[in-house]
Formats: sequence, C-alpha cells, structure tokens
Amino acid sequence: MAESVELPGRLAILPFRNKVLLPGAFIRIRCTSQSSVKLVEQELWQREEKGLIGILPVQDAAETTSMDSMLSQGVGSESGERSSNVQVSTSDAHKVDGKNPSEVIHWHNRGVAARALHLSRGVEKPSGRVTYIVVLEGLCRFNIEELNTRGPYCTAKISPLEMTKSEMEQVEQDPDFVTLSRQFKAIAMELISILEQKQKTGGRIKVLLETLPFHKLADIFVASFEISFEEQLCMLDSVDPKVRLSKATELVDRHLQSIRVAEKITQKVEGQLSKSQKEYLLRQQMRAIKEELGDNDDDEDDLASLERKMQNAGMPSNIWKHAQRELRRLKKMQPQQPGYNSSRVYLDLLADLPWQKASEEQELDLKAAKDHLDCDHYGLVKIKQRIIEYLAVRKLKPDARGPVLCFVGPPGVGKTSLASSIAAALGRKFIRISLGGVKDEADIRGHRRTYIGSMPGRLIDGLKRVGVCNPVMLLDEIDKTGSDVRGDPASALLEVLDPEQNKSFNDHYLNVPFDLSKVIFVATANRMQPIPPPLLDRMEVIELPGYTAEEKLRIAMQHLIPRVLDQHGLSSAFLQIPEDMVKLVIQRYTREAGVRNLERNLAALARAAAVRVAEREQAVSVSKDVHKITSPLLDNRLAEGAEMEMEVIPMVVNNHEISNAFRIASPLVVDEAMLEKILGPPRFDDQEAADRVATPGVSVGLVWTAFGGEVQFVEATSVVGNGELRLTGQLGDVIKESAQIALTWVRARVEDLKLAAAEETDLLQGKDIHIHFPAGAVPKDGPSAGVTLVTALVSLFSQKNVRADTAMTGEMTLRGLVLPVGGVKDKVLAAHRYGIKRVILPERNLKDLVEVPADVLSSLEVTFPLYLKQKCFSS
Ligand code: ADP
Repeated sequence: MAESVELPGRLAILPFRNKVLLPGAFIRIRCTSQSSVKLVEQELWQREEKGLIGILPVQDAAETTSMDSMLSQGVGSESGERSSNVQVSTSDAHKVDGKNPSEVIHWHNRGVAARALHLSRGVEKPSGRVTYIVVLEGLCRFNIEELNTRGPYCTAKISPLEMTKSEMEQVEQDPDFVTLSRQFKAIAMELISILEQKQKTGGRIKVLLETLPFHKLADIFVASFEISFEEQLCMLDSVDPKVRLSKATELVDRHLQSIRVAEKITQKVEGQLSKSQKEYLLRQQMRAIKEELGDNDDDEDDLASLERKMQNAGMPSNIWKHAQRELRRLKKMQPQQPGYNSSRVYLDLLADLPWQKASEEQELDLKAAKDHLDCDHYGLVKIKQRIIEYLAVRKLKPDARGPVLCFVGPPGVGKTSLASSIAAALGRKFIRISLGGVKDEADIRGHRRTYIGSMPGRLIDGLKRVGVCNPVMLLDEIDKTGSDVRGDPASALLEVLDPEQNKSFNDHYLNVPFDLSKVIFVATANRMQPIPPPLLDRMEVIELPGYTAEEKLRIAMQHLIPRVLDQHGLSSAFLQIPEDMVKLVIQRYTREAGVRNLERNLAALARAAAVRVAEREQAVSVSKDVHKITSPLLDNRLAEGAEMEMEVIPMVVNNHEISNAFRIASPLVVDEAMLEKILGPPRFDDQEAADRVATPGVSVGLVWTAFGGEVQFVEATSVVGNGELRLTGQLGDVIKESAQIALTWVRARVEDLKLAAAEETDLLQGKDIHIHFPAGAVPKDGPSAGVTLVTALVSLFSQKNVRADTAMTGEMTLRGLVLPVGGVKDKVLAAHRYGIKRVILPERNLKDLVEVPADVLSSLEVTFPLYLKQKCFSS
C-alpha cells in the first residue's frame, strides 16, 4: 500500500451510503444490489488483473443540512478548499443499494480509489440472485470531475488529489509539519500502549508507525476506530497533509480520552458489581443456613434487641450518646464488613455493664454480721474484730472512703472466705479477680480497641460478670503481679484503689469512664514484701499468720468436717472422724500454715467412706416402690419367670435423701488403719528432726516462705581438700555470703570455741567444707540462715550434735552480732508444728512474740542471743 498508485482518468464508482473508506483502510462488503453486482462483475470479477474502482460516499438528504454546515466551517474552510456535494435526484440516477428511489441523495465530490484484495461469488437460493463479497483496500483520494449515472452502474471522470513525491518531500521539510508529526506520533504511541495492554496487538501497529509516512498513518489511525460520518468526510476532505495530521491528532486524542474514561467507568462498575454480587451471594447463603437451622431472626432484629438492651442499661447521658454514635455506625455497616463484629461486641459490653444496677444494701446489722463471721470462721478474733470495725464505719457513713482491706498470709488460712463473708454480711454480690501472674498493664486496664483481639481489663470484665456496680471485689494475690515491658499492672491498680480516682476509671477498651467508687475492694496476698509501697500505702494490711495444731483441730471439727461430709452426701450417721484421728491427720499428713491440705485429706476420707457406705448398703435389700419392668425383650431374657426389680428414686431428691435411702446399721468410724489405707503412710513425724540431726554438722533453722514458716535443716561436712567452701541447694547470693561469713566467724574463734587442738590454727588445713541445704530443688535466699550456718559449722568442727529440739533463725554479722529477721510469728508457729521445743531468736525480735498465740508460746522455750554464744549444743 505504500507504493504510489497510478489512477486512470475514469473509474467505476461504487457509492457508500453514510460511510467513508479512507486510504489505507480495509473493508469487507457484500454486494447485493443490481448495480453493485454488475459493477463488481464487470470491473473486478471478469478482468484478468484486478482493477481499481472508486468508492464515493453518498448521504441521505435528511442528513445533509447539518453536514453542509459542518463542511463549510470544517476542514474545507481551514484548508481553503471548498468541498461541494453533487446532488442527484434518483429519478435520473441510480438507486443506491436498493433504497427508496424517491429519496434525494447527495454524492460527495471526493472519493477513494480502492482495489479488491479478495472476491467471492455466491448464488442465493431459491431466487438464483448472484451476490459478491469483496474485500477492498483504500488506496488514494481522487476528485470527481464528472459523474455519469447512466448505465448499469456509475462511472466518473476523476482527477488525483494526492501530492506527488517531490511535493510531499517539500511538505516534510515544513517545520509546522514536523511539529504536527511529532505530536501525532506521541499521541499515537500512547494509544498503542493502551491497546497493547488490552489486546496485546500493539506490536504490528508499532511497526507501521515506524515505517509509514505520517500523512498516511493519519488515515489509517482514524479509519481504525469509530467516528461519525461527518468526521469521516472531514478526514476524506483533508487533502493537505498538515490539515490531515492535525485533524487526525485531534481525533486520536479524543479516542484516547474516551478509552480512558470508559476504562475508569468499567473498573468502577465492575468493582461495584462484583462486590454487590458477592454480598448478594453471601446473604443468600446466610439466609439459607439460617432457614436450615430454623434461626430466622434477622440482623435487624438483632440490632433492635441490642438497642433495647442499651436503653435499659441505665448509662450516664454522655456515655449513652457515645453508645448511640457507635450504634449508628454499626447500623451502617454490613455484618460481613471488618470491624462489624468488634463494634457489636463492644456495644454488647456497654449494654451489659452495670452502670446503675446495684445489689440492694440491707440495713447492716452488726450483730448478725458478727454471727455470720463467727459461724464461718473459727478463731481469728482480732481479724473479725477489725472487719466488724470496718463494717461499722460503713454503716455510719455508707460513702466513707476507708482504706482497702488486704489480708496477708499463707495459703489456706481463710483470706478468700473472709472476703466472701464480708460480702454476705453486707448483702452484696462477691466477685474474685485473680491477679496472680498478671504482668501486662492491659490485663487491668484493657487493650485499646484498635488491637486485634482486644478485650476489656479484668475489672471491667468482672463487673460485667457480676452484673452489679457495688459488689465486694476480691483482688486475689495482689503480690503476684509483676511488671515488664508491657507496663506495670500495679500502677494501674493504684488508680483502681484510689477513692479519689476510681470514680472515673478508664479502661482502654471501654474508652469511657466507669465509676468504681461503689465497689468494695478487698485484696489478698501471701507476702507483703513484693507489694509496691505506693500500693501498700492504699491498703490496710491484716495479717493471718497461720494456725496452730490446736486451732486446726478446732477448725476441722467445727467447720471442715461438716462441710466435707455435706459435699459428699454424707452425714455423721455414716462417717465419723474422731478428734484423735484428725490430730493424726494434722501431725502426720499436713505441715502447712493453713488448712487447705487438711481439708483435702478429710475430703479423701469422705470419698473413701462414701464408696464403702454405698457398697455396704447395696447388699441390704431395698424396700421402696418396686416396679416390674414389662418388656418383651427382657421377658425373653429372664430365665423361667425370674423377675427384675428396680428401685426408682425421684430425680428431685438431694444427696442427703439419697443417702438416707440406704439404711445403714452403724456409722463408719475412721481409725488409724483406715487412715493409712486411705491417705498412705504418714508423710511427717516428730522423729524427723531427731533423726536428721543425729550426726554432727547438722542444725535446724527456721525460714519463711510464701507458704508460711518452715523448718529448714542445714548440713555441713568436711572432706580432704585444700580449704575450699562448697555450697549446694539452689542458693541465692545473700545466703552464699552468709555461709562465707559464718565460716570466717568460726575460723576466727577456733580457740574460744575449742574447735581444734592447740597446735592446729587453721581449721581448713587439708580440708574442704561442703554445706548443703536439703530440698535441693527449692531455691533459697535471705540472710536469716546466718545463725543456723554457724551452728552447723561449730557442730561439725567440734563433733558435737546439735540438739534436735532446738531451731533457730537470725542474721549474723562478721563480728557475731545477731540481727533481727522478719516473719518471726510464722517461724515460731512452724517450729511448734514440727514439735520443736526450743527456739533461738534474735533479741530484737522479742517484740514480735506478742503476735504469737499464747498457747504456742507457753509450749516453747525461746532464747535470745544478742551475740552468738554456745547455747544450742547438746553435751
Ligand atoms: P486462702 O484464701 O487464704 O488461701 P481460703 O479462704 O480459700 O484460703 O480457705 C481455705 C479453706 O479453709 C476454706 O474452705 C475456708 O473456709 C477454710 N478456712 C480457713 N480458715 C478457716 C477458719 N478460721 N475457720 C473455718 N474455716 C476456715
């Protein structure tokens, strides 16, 4: 197509109705009208070499008015060329493609010479009419000099319109043309790249862009997309290459824009469509599932019920506004949308929280409260007294901001049950919040809602669970909170326990203030020392040191045994645990400060008894309603008329009634043999200390742990070596240093203590000393083992046994000064539990003995060395 075409002076004319074939364009037409079939037959089909024909646009009369005006202002006027139309009435002209002959049609005066690339002939059945399919390629423009419409088809005298090669070379030098070409190329490249992305067919067009002259490319580009007939005519009339290029640039640019807009719209529409389609699909699925489950309540109903719940929650007005805002937001969301669920859960919490709901506080009867406490707990006189004082203040001034009570003591001494008794005495609900192991501040204050999986802190969660705003809240194990990178829970607790601040406690998750001032806080701890001082400052510490054996016995007899029997569906009519046996359980099976293990052992006895009672009574014939079961299957199975009997016990009866249903001859009484059978061989005995200190180098110390006071043995021995001190038993730095000090002190007093022969000055000559603290798996630390260590070493070097009935505690300085230690009360109680008769305490701990129960003290001999003297050795 790039070659120049030699046009003949006359051409057969094929009219194109409202359509223009531009040079460089290809078109496939089907010729069916008489004239066009004749033309193709004579000009193309019957010729040896394929001839040329002229394609001339024609237009219906109705459309000419607008086109005329356009043509006059359009390309023609710009180029200075005036295009004119040849108006032919069909009365003397050819019907164009079989259209209505009465119509006036307009023949354009410029056309495009075309050559046929492909011809195919067909015969229509049954009419026998011949048709042709022709593929034409537009070659170059021509001008109609004279149109002849007479004959089987039109012919015209034509003159070529395209420029000659030299003329074209001249135009190509024109700077305007160069600029226009550049513009056109840029815009064409852009179009190609877009098409490339869409259809991956840009490669071929790119090659054209590089090889063809621009004035030809302009036609090809414009011909490749849909433009109006007027614009096609305009393009056809743009004979001047510059005009053509500028027109083509404009059209390509417009096409480009329209592609972009269309693309944008398509994307938008596609996105919306797919999203709404997805939603629709999911909704349908959800509905189907709900229908299947018979769960027809809608999201609408769901939100409506949530709103109702919120309205009834009694939120303060500012929080109600906040909740409403959140609810409005939720209503606008789709259930599938991210954030819907978290918003929903949040609103549920807001609606569930007891903003106003409170347990009705009864008129506090102090006498009844005291009776309640006495009934639930044995002993603890001072503690109960303190609680009654606390309640009395509340009675006189209900909004009094007294300090928070904090019960400190070993496990199982009744801290939790005292707190729940306070709640019962006040007629309030009780909720326990465990703080053991809480290291994250968010556990108290909650996580911000922006976190995935965020939730409220334990306090708000507890309030939601308890459902009232004025419960007694037990902050259990407040000493077990720790702090790390995630913040300090203790500092958050400061706010909780401060009556000035907790009016508007801010939970991060809740994000609105909640009034905690109506909550009565009670805390428990095993030890005071780990509680941060500012927190301790907000609390009034009440210490529960642990029980003596006698107290334990009373607690067991009066409280634990009745409770345990009840829990196991027994009564004293079935099981009796005599006092002696309880004493044995206390001595041989438990050596704790509290009564938890004692309760556990009693429960073991009750379980075993329950089995025996049940077994024994099964053997006794039953005489209740006897129902004969009539079932054909059973009848067949029962041998010759044998009957099957079954006792029917109504479902509503409780354990007691079930037990009573079994008539027993006599109650089961626990004896020593039964104890051993059920609880196993004794775990502790009073002989232990005597056995362990049977050799020199062993002493008995008193230590303090989270479980209360304990008896701790220290063993020392010497072996051949070169004067080294070896320490084992998971010891901390402080206790290791105590050992060093003790050894140095003993070495320095070899003569005073007569530990070696006169000529022997160094105790360690040729020896290594090894000190071990048994219970090697338990970590130990603290300075209070100083005195015990010295005693063990002196015993070792002097080869004298330590008295088995003597236990000691005390920090020791290098000079031998004995310093006071903590936990004296617990330690003395522990010594008493172990059956120790003598206790050696630092002199300055004398004052602490006031707290030790008198009966314990009276059974012990207490000695106070200011300086360590030789007091604890047997002969
Ligand atoms: P803590 O909270 O100190 O670890 P609990 O309050 O859980 O201990 O007490 C453990 C068990 O011991 C409970 O069943 C409790 O009723 C009982 N208990 C503790 N002290 C007494 C007491 N003085 N009188 C009666 N029962 C007691």
